[in-house]
Amino acid sequence: SERTLGLIKPDAFLKVGKIVDAIYKDGFRVAQLRTLQLTRRDAMEFYAEHEGKPFYPALTEFMSSGPIVAMELVADGAIQKWRKLIGPTNTFTAQKEAPSSLRALFGTDGTRNACHGSDSTASADRELGFFFGSPSRF
Ligand code: ATP
Repeated sequence: SERTLGLIKPDAFLKVGKIVDAIYKDGFRVAQLRTLQLTRRDAMEFYAEHEGKPFYPALTEFMSSGPIVAMELVADGAIQKWRKLIGPTNTFTAQKEAPSSLRALFGTDGTRNACHGSDSTASADRELGFFFGSPSRF
């Protein structure tokens, strides 16, 4: 099985119950879960690949604006499976194209889109390290 980092972003923090419910219904295991709040500096480091893009200031402001939930999700094909469950990046696109996705249900707009998922095994390793230090042995 594969591991990925799932985040519940600040706009969906109060929906953690419903989101974790959907995660189990879809057949994931949750190996680690923590709540935390990023500093602006943490958010800038986490999203360093987007530095210089027009949405980077708003993104890092948003991601440090309140509590988030970080999860280590385990399943066969977890990376693609989680990206499918959360849906298209833009909440409004998600509402049109994937109305039962988590971003459609719980997102706010283009930047405040409820959830994040790693996009490759390399980014999953980096992002799990960022939030948990290392993958769980369990
Ligand atoms: P994530 O990495 O959060 O799963 P993603 O991989 O679908 O999202 P990325 O292109 O990696 O999208 O962008 C990272 C985040 O930056 C998005 O989730 C969203 O919050 C924000 N973002 C991306 N593109 C835009 C945009 N065009 N306008 C505003 N915000 C954006």
